[in-house]
Amino acid sequence: MSNRTFTMIKPDATRNGNTGAILQMINAAGFRIVAMKMTRLSKEKAGEFYAVHAARPFYGELVDFMSSGPITAAILEKDNAVEEFRKLIGATNPAEAADGTIRKLFATSIGENAVHGSDSNENAVIEGDFFFSKLEQF
Ligand code: ATP
Ligand code: MG
Repeated sequence: MSNRTFTMIKPDATRNGNTGAILQMINAAGFRIVAMKMTRLSKEKAGEFYAVHAARPFYGELVDFMSSGPITAAILEKDNAVEEFRKLIGATNPAEAADGTIRKLFATSIGENAVHGSDSNENAVIEGDFFFSKLEQF
């Protein structure tokens, strides 16, 4: 259970042609892809996914951005996956992200920050189930 996390390659990274490079970094860091799909969130679905942020001032912008183009959703497996993946992606704001992290390399702003990573084991399961049926999780 605690060895899985959920990620999305966000619309900015998709538009910029960085999907392959990001998947390469994920694999190189030792994560196994156990579910994956390219899809596009409707505004309604993006709002539902980020409902926890509904009261925040950036919520409308976040929902618009996350529904602005295709994303790649995936479930990843590795020991201590949630924490290890957040280390690999770096801080929310790319200006504060450590060198060599995915956000340092590919994010352009705090809003358009290339990738999502779950923040807890519980949310990893909820988010993975949001996109994938149990039959699609290998
Ligand atoms: P994510 O959940 O996407 O992995 P995170 O956990 O690093 O990112 P959260 O605090 O959960 O950060 O914020 C969710 C997303 O909302 C961020 O990734 C970013 O796209 C957007 N966001 C957060 N803070 C701001 C802000 N101050 N201005 C604009 N957008 C923001
Ligand atoms: Mg978050």
